[in-house]
Amino acid sequence: MAESAKVFKYSLSEIMVDKELSNYTCSICFDIIENKEVYQCKEGHWNCRQCWVESLSKKKECMTCRTQVNSISELSRNRFLEQEFDSKKVYCPNSFKISPDSNDYTQPLLIRDEIKGCNKIISINEIDQHLSECTFKCKFSKYNKLLDRIKEMETTIQKQQSVINKSKSSSSLSSSSSSSSSSSSSLESSSALNTTRASLSAEQRLNDLSDKLSLLLSQQKQPKYKNKWIIQNYSTISKTKTIGKSIRSPIFETSGKEFEVAIFPNGFGSAQKGFLSFFLYLKSLNTPIVVSYSLIILNPKNTNKNFIHSSQQVFSSTSSGWGKSKSLKISEITKEEGWLSADDKLVVEISVEVVSFNGPLESLK
Ligand SMILES: [Zn+2]
Ligand SMILES: [Zn+2]
Ligand SMILES: [Zn+2]
Repeated sequence: MAESAKVFKYSLSEIMVDKELSNYTCSICFDIIENKEVYQCKEGHWNCRQCWVESLSKKKECMTCRTQVNSISELSRNRFLEQEFDSKKVYCPNSFKISPDSNDYTQPLLIRDEIKGCNKIISINEIDQHLSECTFKCKFSKYNKLLDRIKEMETTIQKQQSVINKSKSSSSLSSSSSSSSSSSSSLESSSALNTTRASLSAEQRLNDLSDKLSLLLSQQKQPKYKNKWIIQNYSTISKTKTIGKSIRSPIFETSGKEFEVAIFPNGFGSAQKGFLSFFLYLKSLNTPIVVSYSLIILNPKNTNKNFIHSSQQVFSSTSSGWGKSKSLKISEITKEEGWLSADDKLVVEISVEVVSFNGPLESLK
């Protein structure tokens, strides 16, 4: 999940004080000359550099007056126009908010936020500098969080869908009638989602996606992840892990989410001195999810002594790890007490189930 999330970005034409931009619009591509070099023929007909390059590759002339132009080096750069554009006034981007009338979450409408926004008017070439010191920071961070969550949920849905498709194509003999009917209904809801997509606002989209995901999860009952994590040479390794140092399990995945378990053989912090701490961590962050899990340190000698920690928690970017900071007494983790096998292994049984992808939306408000 290393791909960078889509981030909302205002467009310059939206934040300009004077919206009359025809003097700064390239007559070929119709873009404003933001971050563009402007070149002109000797008669003063100007276009952006890229448009000149393209048109000269087809015909060696100015497309307005047809004066011969053999190469771009025969043109002159119009820095005056570029600088004039750069000195145009804009409202600080943090003086806007997203209009509640926006009906396309990928291109939201901006309106001035006269009450809570920044009231600075600056020139285009001062935007970066001003944003670095503007005290009305991160006006769109909530919106970007929403976009992040939409994107992550779309990825998870794609994964779920491919799991369903795989199981559908590979196990036609064993699949029960109920699972095949649920697969077809999930495909229908997916196309319905696409057609209405453009008219959904970001939050509606998110709600829609999380409903769809719950539906998919209930249809395609992802088996709970269950496995044993065997730590070899435990007593040797644990000696090398001082307070706050951990042994990490391999990363595992369930319902499109990645997890790992960490054991702190000498405690998570000094407050847990003398005790083993262990935690389950969510590795894929951003969307709060509800996870039901259990971590069991097995005692092969006497299963009644198995140390069981099980719980249901919300895992999110701000609380990505849950577990037990004080579990077994370190002095008891010996072969004699039965926690370590004769060949010095410690075994942790891990069960993890994502029970809801519908994390609390209120946290964004
Ligand atoms: Zn152009
Ligand atoms: Zn010309
Ligand atoms: Zn500002």
